[in-house]
Parts: sequence; structure tokens; C-alpha cells
Amino acid sequence: MTAKVRLFVEHPLGAGQPVPLTREQAHYLFSVMRLGAGDAVALFNGADGEWHAEISEAGKRGGMALCDTQTRAQTMPPDLWLLFAPIKKARTDFIVEKAVELGVSRILPVQTQFTNSERIRQDRLQAHALEAAEQCGACFVPEVAELVRLDRLLAEWPGERGLLFCDEAEAGSRSSALAGVLAPAAILVGPEGGFSDAERTRLRAMAQTRVIALGPRILRADTAAVAALALWQAENGDWT
Ligand code: SAH
Repeated sequence: MTAKVRLFVEHPLGAGQPVPLTREQAHYLFSVMRLGAGDAVALFNGADGEWHAEISEAGKRGGMALCDTQTRAQTMPPDLWLLFAPIKKARTDFIVEKAVELGVSRILPVQTQFTNSERIRQDRLQAHALEAAEQCGACFVPEVAELVRLDRLLAEWPGERGLLFCDEAEAGSRSSALAGVLAPAAILVGPEGGFSDAERTRLRAMAQTRVIALGPRILRADTAAVAALALWQAENGDWT
């Protein structure tokens, strides 16, 4: 039987391996999805690929699933980070979800000079990333980092990591300059207010930076994130 539900678990997976289910997972599987003992579930843990498992115990507060066969080998997304300035809640959620689907290794909310929100709910965003991985078939859940100030992040920027700076001031310039920027890399998208001149100067002075134009129109930050990720993936990532 093929599994209708895919779950991320924090437990080793392998042939014959029993996997305990948490209270939340039990609630979801048994109360929401109405599954029970004998039903199939797909499990992944970010390291051992995806496994077909059979529910062996279904309780109110927990349960157990027994792995039988591996259904997908472990694959990792390219070493691509997404740096974005948090915007309104629903749009921030969208950015996290789409980043996981399109394929990133890490998601870093950054506070820029014109960022409106000074707080994020990291745990909520991480839960969104997990759900997105469960539904899109990925075997890996990218980490969502705590909010960090852009200037702090740049001060410690790893020498080998390319920085794709999506600059709205470049709208309309012809080159998207994404070709050949291999992993490790990071895409940086600004807030609704865009980047300040000081930030622009700082970013442009860094050897790792490539300035990216995303067409002739000004995109909203969530659109810009999706467009840049898709372009990078198609040129340099795991879509090819
Ligand atoms: N308020 C700003 C626009 C910000 S758009 C202004 O009117 O100038 C939000 C973010 O999306 C930008 O900071 C940039 O990272 C990205 N972005 C939007 N359109 C873009 C484009 N055409 N080229 C490159 N980046 C773009």
C-alpha cells in the first residue's frame, strides 16, 4: 500500500526499525487523517532517505510505525541559502514554504535598515519549513535561523560563498548574472522598502557579491525570492 501521509521524524530509519510517534503525529495520523494500525506512512529524517512504514500501534498520545523498505535515497538540496527581510506574516510564511519547495539548504531572516518587523516567530517558521518538506517530497528540512542583522551577517560572511544581491535599483538592466554562480551561494532579497544606499554600497564592495536584476518591473519581496530561487536552480542547482 502506498502511503498517503509523509512525516518527518527525529529518529533513525532502517529496515525493521520501530519508530515512536509523538503526540502531535498521533493526533494528525489517527484523528485528522483517520489512519490506524496496519496503514502505511512514509517517514524521513533528513539523513536516511524516505522509508515506507506500517503503523503498528495507534494511541491517543502516541504510537509506533515499523519501517520496511526504503522508497527514496537521501538527497540534499544544493548548498544555497536564502536571506530575506521578513515582511507581513502571510508573505513571510509563503517565502519559507516556497524556498523549501524550490530547494535551499538554509533560510536566514535578516534585519535590514528598512525592515518593518523586528521580531519573527522562528519556531513557527521552522514548523512551516517542516510541513513544506513533508508535502513536497524533500528528504531534508532546511534550518530557519533566528533573525540576524544584515550588517552582522556580512561582517562574518564566508569567503567562498557567493552572494547574489537582488537589487531593485537594477530593475530593467539586462543581465541577471546568475550563470556560473555555483554553490555555496546565497540569495539576498530586501524588504518592501528596499535597500538603503549604505547597504547597497557595502554589498557592492564585497568580493563575493554579484548584483542580480530580476526583469524590468519591481517585484514584491515574495515574488523576488521565488523568481531568484527558480533562476538559480535552473542555471546552477539541482533542476538540471
Ligand atoms: N520599495 C522598493 C522595492 C522593494 S522590492 C522600491 O520601490 O524601490 C523588495 C525586494 O525585492 C528588493 O529589495 C529586491 O531584493 C527584490 N526585487 C524586486 N524587484 C527586483 C528587480 N527587478 N530586480 C532585482 N531585485 C528586485
